[in-house]
Amino acid sequence: MTQFRNFRMVSYVVYGRGSFNQLDEILTPHRKNGAPMIFFVDHFFENKPLVDRIPVRGNDKIIFADVTYEPKTTYVDGLTSQLKDEFGTISGIVGIGGGSVMDLTKAVSLMMNNPGSSADYQGWDLVKYPGVYKAGIPTLSGTGAEVSRTCVLTGPTRKLGMNSDFTPFDQIVLDPELTADAPVNQRFYTGMDCYIHCIESLEGTFLNEFSKSYGEKALQLCQKVFIDKDIWDAESDDQLMMASYAGGMSIAYSQVGVAHAVSYGLSYLLGTKHGIGNCIVMNHLEEYYPNGTAEFKRMVEKNNVEIPTGICKGLTDDQFDAMINVSIGMKPLWENALGKDWEKIMTREKLRLLYEKL
Ligand code: NAD
Ligand code: ZN
Repeated sequence: MTQFRNFRMVSYVVYGRGSFNQLDEILTPHRKNGAPMIFFVDHFFENKPLVDRIPVRGNDKIIFADVTYEPKTTYVDGLTSQLKDEFGTISGIVGIGGGSVMDLTKAVSLMMNNPGSSADYQGWDLVKYPGVYKAGIPTLSGTGAEVSRTCVLTGPTRKLGMNSDFTPFDQIVLDPELTADAPVNQRFYTGMDCYIHCIESLEGTFLNEFSKSYGEKALQLCQKVFIDKDIWDAESDDQLMMASYAGGMSIAYSQVGVAHAVSYGLSYLLGTKHGIGNCIVMNHLEEYYPNGTAEFKRMVEKNNVEIPTGICKGLTDDQFDAMINVSIGMKPLWENALGKDWEKIMTREKLRLLYEKL
């Protein structure tokens, strides 16, 4: 019998310019017996006006999250112990930031109620108990982390998410105003994460009408903001935020593909960040996604951004092998991209040649 994926989604969604102002009202019913609400805020916003708009009550606490590196299991474990030591119990965690803060928030929420280290839960359906209340408020659009059932962490031995039914947020606040100040390059790299989710989902073998409906809409919105328009305006922020949401919904029922599988290797060995890593790989995927790659290049040109090249120059055989191991290990991604017989198509030798081009 075919097993269809029965997935949990975010419980509450509010969308609109200025919807951030409703946060106090949204959080009130979730405040428990004087236990504090914790706000994880992207360090970019330290000393910025947004901080004064956060509804801090009683012994609530704002923690500025250091996202210089993508979230590590050690960082998650450290924050969890800090909160347990300082407060014992908390009412919940609200994450305000890019994909890194979204993932950090989900992970610490889960670890507040699950024993051991977050590294023990990297994988599928290993989390045993629901976390504390968690809300996500994205300030960059593209990753889809606001809707996904995973939170990607770099652990001692691998980079892998805590995928579980307990992982999705209880609440998300989609306020496109919060993305207005994102630097052009960062906005592009994170926006391209969404574009690449669409291509990988729509060109993948796991595609069904559910994924396709969301994927096509997200793709159309990406094309509007990155190709059709000549200037970036408020409507572009609105559109990219919905593209991210729809792109995330599309992969909820399908999977990502070649760009992500290869990019994970770069990230593991070189620490290359998700958005830019995907772009570096997508620049060379004519063989797998001919139309998507050509359109991606048009977007790069039109938006006048730079995609790094030559990042694998001078690496040793062992280093190439390390990246190949991580990448080849992403089996569902390859199967989605190339079909059941993917191992005959994507050999280690072929993958090495691809890495050498990057
Ligand atoms: P990010 O969260 O790593 O942030 C990138 C930079 O932008 C940081 O320096 C941050 O301080 C800054 N920033 C954030 N908001 C800003 C704003 N409004 N104005 C100016 N600067 C701002 O970037 P990202 O691309 O959103 O997220 C990448 C992360 O998301 C990776 O850790 C990746 O693994 C994860 N991810 C998760 C999923 C998922 O489903 N859980 C999916 C894709 C990616
Ligand atoms: Zn991605």
